[in-house]
Amino acid sequence: MLSEEEILEPPPLPTECPDCGSHSFVRICYGFPGPGMLEQAQRGEIVMGGCSWDTPNWYCKDCFNRWPEYPPPEGLHGTPEWRKKYLATTVAEYASLAAAAALPPEADEPTVANYWQRPDGRMVFLLRFPWGKLRIEKRLHLVPLGGAPVYELTGGWQKTIGVDYGKRERQAVLAAMRFERRPPT
Ligand SMILES: [Zn+2]
Repeated sequence: MLSEEEILEPPPLPTECPDCGSHSFVRICYGFPGPGMLEQAQRGEIVMGGCSWDTPNWYCKDCFNRWPEYPPPEGLHGTPEWRKKYLATTVAEYASLAAAAALPPEADEPTVANYWQRPDGRMVFLLRFPWGKLRIEKRLHLVPLGGAPVYELTGGWQKTIGVDYGKRERQAVLAAMRFERRPPT
């Protein structure tokens, strides 16, 4: 049982991004923005988190990590029929992506700028496009239940004019999959 002082004690300031080790991170500010906050955000000193008080509190400018975060999803809720259907969808989606990843890459395919495995088992890929980077995470939590790995876009999008993020996400996932299948050096 924590005493009141312990509960009110603010957590220590981070010194680096727990994901990539970068020192280039900023606080995520919540609540309705005042003019000072807007200016700070325009200068890239803070990130606006929207009008709610909630975690996470920090944002890495290099890998788009946000922390602290909710624990990664575990298991799968829903009725047995729904779960079966959902898991089958992940298997079909993965098979379709894997088939596409076996084909030669498109001319404008992004390159893997960085990749690492998180302590929770997720793989993170940073894909470099001419206009910026996207963060893709590969999650394996459905595999023990009979599902397939799930690739998800979790960061890096900005309001970049003329960028079709649906298409770019697919390109990023395929580039990550091709990278995973590269022959060992
Ligand atoms: Zn980072």
